[in-house]
Amino acid sequence: MQGRIIKSLAGFYYVETANGDIYQTRARGNFRKKGQTPYVGDWVDFSAEEQSEGYILAIYDRKNSLVRPPIVNIDQAVVIMSAKEPDFNSNLLDRFLVLLEHKKIQPIVFISKLDLLSSRAQMDDIRTHYEQIGYKICYSLEELLPLLVEKITVFMGQTGVGKSTLLNKIAPDLRIETGEISETLGRGRHTTRAVSFYSVHGGKIADTPGFSSLDYEVDNAEDLNEAFPEFRKLSHSCKFRSCTHTHEPSCAIKQALEEKQLWKVRYDNYLQFLSEIENRREIYKKTIKRK
Ligand code: ZN
Repeated sequence: MQGRIIKSLAGFYYVETANGDIYQTRARGNFRKKGQTPYVGDWVDFSAEEQSEGYILAIYDRKNSLVRPPIVNIDQAVVIMSAKEPDFNSNLLDRFLVLLEHKKIQPIVFISKLDLLSSRAQMDDIRTHYEQIGYKICYSLEELLPLLVEKITVFMGQTGVGKSTLLNKIAPDLRIETGEISETLGRGRHTTRAVSFYSVHGGKIADTPGFSSLDYEVDNAEDLNEAFPEFRKLSHSCKFRSCTHTHEPSCAIKQALEEKQLWKVRYDNYLQFLSEIENRREIYKKTIKRK
């Protein structure tokens, strides 16, 4: 039989089949020998005589994976950014977007706390810029809910943006354990925590507390260029294939910036991320030499 793991707890994997039946399964020892672990989101082949006693036989290739919590095959991520308290921060948003692009997870941006703004003009302007790049920006739950249908969605955002509030509005009965809550419960609780998808509004959702583990995954200029869709589209017109859009002659990105076809805010963030990547490489080189 075939299905998808929707929950893992204490060595058991709960596999849902296409018709909605859920089987409690275990992974066979040969997975451990191969160094393979089944994760929530995995498509698997399994055998089961009864619904409470099945075995996973094979795990299919994954399209992407997150580390903490371990979830795989994610379609999209809702990045929650507050309009105020803390102030909207395009640098932070672009960090999320770069990492999601790199992971091939479709980003959706949800702006919270709009009611704290005295005027929305500036926020609307930012929204227009991101929409021109191709990103979906939601101002309300009504805009967000239809996007969850038939998708696996994770939720992320820094502390204080109202992630719990939003998740509780989406799934009031589920009391989803968010990162903010589990932090106060301490580490012991964290390690035994179940990882689970929740079925809501015609799709499946999961909370994603940590994001720091992804910070070092984009580690070269080429990957960074790929993670900025509006640069990716233009960069084949740069004179040099390995153009970093900084000092090279005949750079299509710099030309587009001069012609105001690209948003300078994104380019400035790109430059900052690029220098961070280069600094990390320098530090890495030094550590290798010392050994
Ligand atoms: Zn260039």
